Amino acid sequence: MRCAVCNAGDAKSCSTCESIAYCSAECKKDDERIHGILCEDLPAFLAKFPRPIPKATLAIFFSRGTYLSRDSSKKKPEFIWMEFLHNKLMRVEKDGLTGALIRTDVLKGEFHPEPSSETFRIYRDCSKMGDIEYPLCLYMRNDGWMRDGTFTSFPNICLLETTQGDQKQLWLGPLLIYSDFSPRGSRLRDITMNDFRIFMDFCKVYQGTGIGVRMSIHLKRDMLLEIEAYNPSLFESLLDNYGGSPKIKGVEITCEADAEELGCEKFIAVETPPFHPIFNDYTIEPAEITKLIELPLLVRQVYHMPWKQKTIWQAAIKNPEVEALYVNVGVCYTWGLKYFGEIPICGRYLVIREDRKNITPHQVEAVVAFCKCEIYPKMSSERRRLIGKTKEQKREAREIFLSDNVSRIKFEEFFSKFKSDKVQSGDDSWQNECSPYEVQDIAESLGQLELND
Ligand SMILES: [Zn+2]
Ligand SMILES: [Zn+2]
Repeated sequence: MRCAVCNAGDAKSCSTCESIAYCSAECKKDDERIHGILCEDLPAFLAKFPRPIPKATLAIFFSRGTYLSRDSSKKKPEFIWMEFLHNKLMRVEKDGLTGALIRTDVLKGEFHPEPSSETFRIYRDCSKMGDIEYPLCLYMRNDGWMRDGTFTSFPNICLLETTQGDQKQLWLGPLLIYSDFSPRGSRLRDITMNDFRIFMDFCKVYQGTGIGVRMSIHLKRDMLLEIEAYNPSLFESLLDNYGGSPKIKGVEITCEADAEELGCEKFIAVETPPFHPIFNDYTIEPAEITKLIELPLLVRQVYHMPWKQKTIWQAAIKNPEVEALYVNVGVCYTWGLKYFGEIPICGRYLVIREDRKNITPHQVEAVVAFCKCEIYPKMSSERRRLIGKTKEQKREAREIFLSDNVSRIKFEEFFSKFKSDKVQSGDDSWQNECSPYEVQDIAESLGQLELND
């Protein structure tokens, strides 16, 4: 037998699964993490579920996977028996009580009652660059991958967890891996742990066109919210690997619970890759007031709460600084009021300049102070002053108010006063702070990045 890692001959088979071989302790160790995911499952599966019918073939199934289930097996691949039936791959199980055969379409999902399928055949071993003895097949949905820019199948979390994000394409929906050396499933063979290793190597390097989409595009389309919320370290590594560079400096505005539980500063400097989902989430518009001061800021909740497991009252996680950014300068009857959208603003938020220039915690602090301490109180008294006036008079007065008080020049004035107050109060960190309008354009240094595709 050949070694699964280095291809050397005379390799010894794994004593647990007897389904893969290694030439040395080093090569065994190299495959330890991946192999360990299914090694013990294989003999356990075969003992518990013997081949239900002679035609059934062993395959590895990556269900779509979810973090919402308590069942941790939903996040890792599993062995199943499969059968080709009417051009479809069906999972075959024997009912424990009656012994009746149960066949299920593995690609079926809540939104996919009748999924159509596609098979991608893998002929080469990507790490050893040689042909493989029996082609591996990746069986997946081919419908609705992208419809009007949105996806109907969700990323396969099971695979992302298995590769730990080390994959070039983001595969969507459930996936089945089987081995087949004929075009239409007439000569299937049982999958092996060696095949599993080959498939993992394939995921690491395959960056094709036609099926799947580059990971960076998925990041831009904000497809990974679930991973961001439930496995932030996996999300971070996806951002690191596929988010592009150079990084753009942004700011996180922490909430009250961040301060209480973690002792966080209010404004924290962070670095964001140019393909961060914040830039391509169609639900995110720059805060209105920041457009008026010609400093459009994208504001987006950070889905992961480090203290999420703890019991905290909703009131405690408020974020009044972010609320202040949403002081209403647009819609008539709520004009001058603080944000009151359907979803309350709570938790931690990321703030990035829409033009992808760097922004500092001090600069964000100044914008927030401008909204909170300068504009909001003035708007409130303007609201009171206009009580009883006609609709037309109000509209006119509000327009005049905004052009008099909310502009780039007004914010620049506010900023330099805010800065000199800080410096005079003894805060040296403000000494060299520059106006956000003087920040050099790093967009140029981004060069050839396709920022808008
Ligand atoms: Zn080896
Ligand atoms: Zn094993």
